[in-house]
Amino acid sequence: MWIPIKRWSEENKIGPVQKLSSGSVPTFALKSANGLLIFRAYDLVAYWNGMELHLGFAPQIVNGEPMLHSLDIAKNIQPLLHPLTLPEKPNRIIVIDPGHGGSNLGTKSVLDGSYEKVFTLDWAKRLAPILETNGWKVFLTRTSDEDISLSNRVAFADSCKADLFISLHFNATASPSDHDESGIETFCLTPTGMPSTLTREYDDDVTLVYPNNRFDTENLQYAVRVQRSLLKIAGAHDHGVRRARFMGVLRGQNRPAILVEGGYLSNPREARRIADPAYRQKLAEAVAAALVETPKVQNPPPPVQTQAPSTNGATNP
Ligand SMILES: [Zn+2]
Repeated sequence: MWIPIKRWSEENKIGPVQKLSSGSVPTFALKSANGLLIFRAYDLVAYWNGMELHLGFAPQIVNGEPMLHSLDIAKNIQPLLHPLTLPEKPNRIIVIDPGHGGSNLGTKSVLDGSYEKVFTLDWAKRLAPILETNGWKVFLTRTSDEDISLSNRVAFADSCKADLFISLHFNATASPSDHDESGIETFCLTPTGMPSTLTREYDDDVTLVYPNNRFDTENLQYAVRVQRSLLKIAGAHDHGVRRARFMGVLRGQNRPAILVEGGYLSNPREARRIADPAYRQKLAEAVAAALVETPKVQNPPPPVQTQAPSTNGATNP
C-alpha cells in the first residue's frame, strides 16, 4: 500500500516534507525532531541523517505527490523517529559473535591472504572488555579458532538469555578481481512482506515470518546506531544499513540482532586498514560507543543532522 508521505507526516505531526529538486528524479526531505530523511523517487537508497538507508520499495510519484510504501514507513522510518532505549537492567547481556572460525575461513585479505575469521575474533576480543566496563555482561560465541554452526550460535545466545546479539564480519566482493568496492555495512533481518537489500543466491520469500521479526524496530535502531558510530569513529566509507533474510545467525534470534561487515578485505586500501591493530581497536571502540551512551532527548531536538564534534577528522557523509 502506498502512502502520500506529505499527508502522513502532517497527520502524525512528524514535520514538513520539502521538495529539494525536481526533474526526472525528484528528491524530497522529511524533517523530523529526531533526524532528517532524504529520499528520491524511484530510488531504493534513502539517507537518514546523511547515512545510507536501504528501503524495501522505491518511492513513487502519483499525481505529483511523493508516495512511500506503508512497510517502509512502518519498518524503516517510524523506528528512526524514536530514539533507541538501551536495556536498562543492571546486567544487560550481549552476545558477540566473531564470524566464521576453524575450517570456516570466511573471506581473505587481498594483501596477504589473512582470513576473515582471524580478524573477526580479534575485533570481538577488543570489543568485549570495553562493553564489560560499561555495564554489559559479555559472552562470545567463540573465543578460539573453532567452527561453530550458525544454529549453535543462535542457541548460545538463547542459553545466555542475551538482550542483544551482534555478529562481526569482514566483507569481500564475489569476484576476486573486483578491488574497488569498499565500506562498512550493517545488516538486520528483513521485515516480513519487504524485499531484501541483499539476497545473494538465496530465495527471498517475503512472506516468511522469523522469530527475530518480533524485533524489527530495535534491529533497525541498533543497526543505524552502530553504523553511524562506525562511520564517525573509524571514518570508513558508508555502505549503508541493509536488509537480508538469508542470514541464519540473525533470523532465529529471540532478541534484537545485527550483523556488521567491517570493511572489504578484497579492497587493498581497506584490507591494509583492517590489518592494522590500531584500526581494529577503533572498530571495537566504535561499536561499543553505540551501545553505551544512553540517548538523551535534546530540548529542543535538532531539526536536521547534528554534526557531532569530530576528533579525528572523520566524516559522516
Ligand atoms: Zn563473514
